[in-house]
Amino acid sequence: MRATRAFIHLDHLKENIALVREKTGKAVCMPLKADAYGHGALELAKTALAAGVKYLAVATVGEGAALRQGGIEAPVLLLSIPLPEEITELAASDMEVLAGDEEYIEALEQEAARTGKRIRIHLKIDTGMGRIGCTPAMAPVLASRIAESKNLMLAGTATHLAVSDSLAAKDRAFTNRQLEAFSAAVEGIKAAGVDPGLVHAANTGAVTFYSGAWFDMVRPGILLYGYAPRDETGCAALAVKPLMELVSSLVFIKPIAKGTTVSYGRTWKAKTGTIIGTLPIGYADGLPRGLGNTWRILAGGVLRLLVGRICMDQCMVDLGQDSGLRRWDRVTIFGGGAPHAGIMASLLGTIPYEITCNINKRVPRIYIDKN
Ligand SMILES: *Cc1c(COP(=O)(O)O)cnc(C)c1O
Repeated sequence: MRATRAFIHLDHLKENIALVREKTGKAVCMPLKADAYGHGALELAKTALAAGVKYLAVATVGEGAALRQGGIEAPVLLLSIPLPEEITELAASDMEVLAGDEEYIEALEQEAARTGKRIRIHLKIDTGMGRIGCTPAMAPVLASRIAESKNLMLAGTATHLAVSDSLAAKDRAFTNRQLEAFSAAVEGIKAAGVDPGLVHAANTGAVTFYSGAWFDMVRPGILLYGYAPRDETGCAALAVKPLMELVSSLVFIKPIAKGTTVSYGRTWKAKTGTIIGTLPIGYADGLPRGLGNTWRILAGGVLRLLVGRICMDQCMVDLGQDSGLRRWDRVTIFGGGAPHAGIMASLLGTIPYEITCNINKRVPRIYIDKN
């Protein structure tokens, strides 16, 4: 196996799930979209279900079908809207869907009528995310429409929050308005004599900061992968642990003289004689190219700078003159004992989701479970 690999700590996943369950006391739906934010959906699904997660969520029909092919029998909720021609596979894979418009609901109904198997719908209400879903005013109408169909079932009612990870006053006000609109819509559904099913709204930010958003089920993603939003004091509100640890090995080592430059564009020059190590990892593996001359990796117990531009498949690290490190020694790029992907993300002005999702498929995932 190649030197560059991602260790995925399943024991951390179990601990993170336990923290969320303890904190909320609610059923947990784990978003596994984008191959579980780059961690590997099937492995994580198995661990998550064993740790008490009740629902799984995906973004594409293919992702849901892959979970079914992998033997997963738990409810799988499709969060995005597929093309009409994907509905047959969606139903065949026994997936539940988020839907919030008549045309899509009608297409689902036709498929269910054709196969004679009910499709379970979670009514998606747009309370301010501006992505998919019906207006709160339409919610009772569509809920009744679904509930009255013998081919469909209203399994749940949901919304999604746009700024729940922020405690800035204007973001708090917006989130509270979203939650009020959602609660009112759920009451409207009940007043129309319809059971709204599982009511759910809380992503990571809301699990962390808004207990009023927990309802019947919570859907935290990045939190379960080990990255917590911070409160006003800068403190991570839940002590979750990152799952992903990206490592590589020194495959070539050489001394260089003062004034020697390293990599494309000659953006780094040795101020003194030093020793340079080469790592078989580059931007094609998902190591952001912007990290050259910026990110420090853990090598021999010390954080050491990646020097020069990061290449497609390789990059270089300044080991200093007397690190004692030898060829083939392992180093940690992020996670484990090194700063985690969330810290890398803030340095680059992005979010941890983008870092872990972008770790390429050619990086093997190695699953580790210490308990
Ligand atoms: C991705 C997603 C989530 C999880 O979001 P996090 O920010 O990772 O907690 C929850 N709900 C929906 C609808 C999503 O698309």
